[in-house]
Amino acid sequence: MKIILLGPPGAGKGTQAKQIADKFKIPHISTGDIFRKNIKEKTVLGIKAKDYIDKGKLVPDDLTVAIVKDRINRDDCKSGFLLDGFPRTVNQADSLNEVLKNMNSRINYVINIDVPRKSLIQRLTGRRVCKSCGASYHIKFNSPKKEGICDVCGGNLVQRDDDDLNTVINRLEVYDKQTAPLIDYYKKSDLLCTVDGDKDVDLVFKDICNTLEKCGR
Ligand code: ADP
Ligand code: ADP
Ligand code: ZN
Repeated sequence: MKIILLGPPGAGKGTQAKQIADKFKIPHISTGDIFRKNIKEKTVLGIKAKDYIDKGKLVPDDLTVAIVKDRINRDDCKSGFLLDGFPRTVNQADSLNEVLKNMNSRINYVINIDVPRKSLIQRLTGRRVCKSCGASYHIKFNSPKKEGICDVCGGNLVQRDDDDLNTVINRLEVYDKQTAPLIDYYKKSDLLCTVDGDKDVDLVFKDICNTLEKCGR
């Protein structure tokens, strides 16, 4: 099963992706997580990507497509994978089609998580992430058992640099211009299923599971 999770920043892609990947036993591939790991390790890719990410801009397509191509060609992706945060441009989506075609494969589902703008801003500015394992929390909507400490691994929770209000506003503008056109793109290829993401985490997850069953590709 090859799935794309589409949605604006803050829609809950990362939160849902972890649960979907666990349930269906497929690797969770987040381009944002891959970039942040490279930034932390100060790799060449990390140094190149940091400037864009700090400004809330997209990392150039050639760099992004190359890391995804490399990742989905690994053995653990043979029976499926879940893409979270990729593709984010029409050009990336075209490149992904091309890469999959060369592997005699294709995407089975595109799940679009729909959330109103006001909730997105509240979610992003209140998000806290674990410095060690990357788990995502929210100061109001999804708080850890102990303030500032990750439930999963005991690591410290921090705010992402790009989750400050100004960068959040830039990221939402970038989404509108560069990523939102993918909704129509995948509608045209009849792959798109939209779920209402403005509900509790568990309810959204249920809707996603029902949608995957119903579409049954
Ligand atoms: P969010 O989950 O809030 O949408 P991500 O962790 O997915 O954020 O992405 C963080 C940043 O990493 C983006 O703002 C962008 O700069 C970069 N990035 C992630 N995925 C892509 C992509 N597919 N194309 C270009 N840039 C990306
Ligand atoms: P994305 O990967 O799409 O940027 P995240 O999964 O990181 O989104 O979620 C963004 C923020 O919103 C996090 O603080 C997360 O805890 C919170 N969140 C996720 N899903 C929900 C939900 N259904 N209701 C309320 N808050 C949510
Ligand atoms: Zn943790």
